[in-house]
Amino acid sequence: MRQGAEARVAEHESAYGELALVSPGGGHVHALDWQSDRPVPLTRNVLRLTAPNPGVMTGPGTNSYLVGDAQTGYIAIDPGPNDPAHIDRLWRAAGGDIRAIVCTHSHPDHSPGAAPLQTLCTPQPPVLGLPSAATARVDSQFTPDRVLLHGELLQLGEGAQSHGLQVIHTPGHAANHLCLVLLEDGLLFSGDHVLNGSTTVVSPPDGDMTAYLDSLDALAAACAKHNIDFILPAHGYVLGQAGAAIAHLKAHRLRREAKVLATMQADPAGSMEDWVAKVYDDVPPRMWPVAQRSMLAHVLRLQALAETR
Ligand SMILES: [Zn+2]
Repeated sequence: MRQGAEARVAEHESAYGELALVSPGGGHVHALDWQSDRPVPLTRNVLRLTAPNPGVMTGPGTNSYLVGDAQTGYIAIDPGPNDPAHIDRLWRAAGGDIRAIVCTHSHPDHSPGAAPLQTLCTPQPPVLGLPSAATARVDSQFTPDRVLLHGELLQLGEGAQSHGLQVIHTPGHAANHLCLVLLEDGLLFSGDHVLNGSTTVVSPPDGDMTAYLDSLDALAAACAKHNIDFILPAHGYVLGQAGAAIAHLKAHRLRREAKVLATMQADPAGSMEDWVAKVYDDVPPRMWPVAQRSMLAHVLRLQALAETR
């Protein structure tokens, strides 16, 4: 019971940012229970629909977002896995009017829903994003209809009624990862680069720790430039205090890296299994196989830094 109570408190705390976004004065009732049956309005321009694929790697499930309104039509971000019921709900939530589909990256919980969602729509919207790199796993192959440029602005509608999403290339979690800034609301759609309630896995070779940290810097700069307060991740609730959240994440990564270095120096002949038990002694052993992927990314980065010294 005690554990259950703690989990509820932790979940409640992770939702602070979301409550600050949807109900700044606290007067508006906002349901926090995760469900995938209906979309959750976050702002007047943004709906979230969570796919029914909860799990160790996906948290409560993949968050698909719709940006826009009934006049301008919508841009769908991360249609998620190829789940026909979820794709249908996403299409209905947009009133069938989807003008573009953007995938933040090619992983199987993000991009496979793009093609079936496109097929549902008339006329068919383009699927946008970055093509998967040669390093991508077999289950993470993705080719967009059009490649999005770094800094490109996706515009829905015109004049006062318009919505603008700016593209930021953010390799690190995946080589073809990108984030989007909704300029009028100061919101960052972070894909899997920044999550709420779980830690991004950086799995080489498609994942790269130096690229991941550099992309965090790029996101921090974008938050400062565009006055972004809120981050909308692909898994978990909205995060508040965007700049502080990113700084905290980077500090956490660098602390973990210091622990990797100290462990390697103390036990240079140790195996990856030996090291992961020490470096992630604060994490349940069932998570070590996944944690070992991120540890490998730190080891490769440390080796590259040592070579350039
Ligand atoms: Zn994901």
